[in-house]
Amino acid sequence: MQLIDGKDTAKAIKLEIKAEVESLLREGNRAPHLAAILVGHDGGSETYVAYKIKDCEEVGFRSSLVRFEDDVDEEVLLGKIRELNQDEELDGFIVQLPLPDHINEQKVIETINPKKDVDGFHPVNVGKTVIGLPSFVSATPSGIVELLRRYNVETSGLHCVVVGRSNIVGRPMSILMSQKSMNATVTVAHSRTKNLEELCASADILIAALGAPGFIKAHMVKQGAVVIDVGTTRVPSTETKSGFRLRGDVVFDEVAPKCSFITPVPGGVGPMTRVSLLSNTLLAAKDNIDS
Ligand code: NAP
Repeated sequence: MQLIDGKDTAKAIKLEIKAEVESLLREGNRAPHLAAILVGHDGGSETYVAYKIKDCEEVGFRSSLVRFEDDVDEEVLLGKIRELNQDEELDGFIVQLPLPDHINEQKVIETINPKKDVDGFHPVNVGKTVIGLPSFVSATPSGIVELLRRYNVETSGLHCVVVGRSNIVGRPMSILMSQKSMNATVTVAHSRTKNLEELCASADILIAALGAPGFIKAHMVKQGAVVIDVGTTRVPSTETKSGFRLRGDVVFDEVAPKCSFITPVPGGVGPMTRVSLLSNTLLAAKDNIDS
């Protein structure tokens, strides 16, 4: 069994990005610039945005944080997005999800200029991803593809089961795995899937993106399979200062001995998700330089 170390891989990619930023600066360009819009004070969202800003600092990007209270009027938020769309000093931006209930998330996503949509959530980017055109690809699935690539994991002709069909993880993941670059034969499973245990056990590559801690157990995994655990659910813990820890969708200890490759939680997919946002921002900056 080989552990796929997302933390180390992300560290290596960050160094590559940093070197590219230094070369852009040497050529007289400004540093890539990422902005994040944060609505409200949800603990998880605050943490994710703080990480994104720290990541930017580490690779030499400029970053900006735009904050709104959670009772912000939808029109005010959309107005800010339109303003950022026009800002020539800004290469890309994200709106941290989830948003409060009174705000239409899809409307927010569709207001972002697809050229600055470094989260890859805009339908234009999703559509381009589906037909294999250059696009911003959702950070988690693109981070997973990068992990598989860097670990030389064979995917061609193999059966990949993706458990989960969300717009940000499961569905784009299934699209990427079915493309000619990966050549997997893909099945997408969800909460209405029948015989899920048998289906998972038939997978050469099993990608668990359910958000159900410990759902995937040893009997659901084929001997020699590649297992990618996307799940990150905060569960109470007496062993950490914060009072919680992250648990994956896979029971690591019993599944790992059966695998050819497996990602841990934490330290697997999570760091790659973070680094993919940086890669997308670098792409956006380079596109601005070229055009
Ligand atoms: P989501 O929007 O809640 O989607 C979960 C998907 O899993 C849905 O399609 C759902 O089916 C399916 N599902 C849930 N329970 C199931 C069950 N018992 N059997 C079969 N399918 C089931 O979640 P998400 O945003 O895709 O995220 C999934 C997990 O990944 C979460 O733990 C999240 O925290 C984590 N995540 C991690 C990262 C990272 O960087 N590591 C990034 C993003 C997300 P239905 O469609 O039928 O409801």
